[in-house]
Amino acid sequence: MQVFKFGGASVKDADSVKNVASILKKHADRSTLVVISAMGKTTNKLEELVNAYFYKEGDIQTILAELKTYHLSILEQLVPDKKNTIYNDIENVFVELLWALEEEPSSTYNHHYDQMVSQGEVLATKIVSGYLNETGIKNKWIDARGFIQTDNSYREGKVDYELSQQLVTNELLPIFNSQNIIITQGFIGGTSENYTTTLGREGSDYTAALLAYFTDATQVIIWKDVPGVLNADPKYFKNTKKIDELTYHDAIELTYFGASVIHPKTIKPLQNKNIPLFVKSFIKPDDEGTVIKDSDKRNNVPSYIFKTNQILLSIQPKDFSFIAEDNLSAIFTLFSKNNVHVNMMQNSAISFSVCMDDDHHKIEPLLNDLQQQFKVLYNKNVQLMTIRNYDQETIAKLSQDKIIIIEQRSRNTHQMVMKEDSASS
Ligand code: ASP
Ligand code: MG
Repeated sequence: MQVFKFGGASVKDADSVKNVASILKKHADRSTLVVISAMGKTTNKLEELVNAYFYKEGDIQTILAELKTYHLSILEQLVPDKKNTIYNDIENVFVELLWALEEEPSSTYNHHYDQMVSQGEVLATKIVSGYLNETGIKNKWIDARGFIQTDNSYREGKVDYELSQQLVTNELLPIFNSQNIIITQGFIGGTSENYTTTLGREGSDYTAALLAYFTDATQVIIWKDVPGVLNADPKYFKNTKKIDELTYHDAIELTYFGASVIHPKTIKPLQNKNIPLFVKSFIKPDDEGTVIKDSDKRNNVPSYIFKTNQILLSIQPKDFSFIAEDNLSAIFTLFSKNNVHVNMMQNSAISFSVCMDDDHHKIEPLLNDLQQQFKVLYNKNVQLMTIRNYDQETIAKLSQDKIIIIEQRSRNTHQMVMKEDSASS
């Protein structure tokens, strides 16, 4: 049994879906559980839809029509026969969305978000599964919400391992007795009250890892538009290098610091069961890619992770008391309550600095909470550079034309919070 994951870019149009079919034909020679994300940029569009609905920002009908046209045009190219039942299935998803949108919001933003945004994965998997069946790649579509059980932390569902394990063992695994390929959704889960949750943006990798864990899979392959894990994001750097092999430890460090190639939560379930993870190109599916597995070979290629749109907070106790255990504990409680992930931190006697993604839906409430007890200064629009396996030359090169605000290093990792030096450009 193996698990494949195809992300949004790999199913962004009809040709891409055909390419997925050709990969499955060639590489799915044994029982394969296929996890698929929403097509292309659908999740962003659905977020716009939720904002239009909840905050009355934008026009619901326009966004809905765009989503429908996009999916139908892909489906029409894949399955021209409009009498095919997939058309009905897709229509039903949109009818239900429309019904939900006609009601006034009755719950929290995050709750509505999950009920609506999850439909991107439902649409994608229905189209792909239907098309594959039409072309002779027999498969069964299943609803991930019946297996990945979470609590009701909307937009950040916490997985109930015990219950999910039971459901997978009793109800999912037996399907392989009669089917070779199962198609399901990444990113989404279900609660005990039958609501939908999502696992955090880009969470489909995590779903693939969880399902591999619950099914004791022999391997996971994440199919991407890059040749494997690179030492830097090609969006920001030229001459990137592919890393052939990474340990779980290296991979978790890289993703934790923000390497966007795989979701940070992906590694733990795989490491816990010693399941190798391959990151491969869906454009060149026969190439080697990167393998992440248990090994004593350490990777020592310098890797850089560059994060823009960061905010740096400097938190100071109002009464000039030290930043010691009590204050730190109060600060971390507020970060945890607001679900804010810290990218870097540093403390001095009376000030604690923290760098994180400037996501204003999370940062505003956090600031409000912090300001009750602390004086908070902040610096917006800063960048965070993390270098693993650093050397002096790399540090100098990467900090050229920048003002370094904070710098910190450990044995393998060097981090810099920086700002563009406007005088130098
Ligand atoms: N479709 C979701 C997102 O774009 C999940 C994923 O792609 O992994 O965030
Ligand atoms: Mg995506």
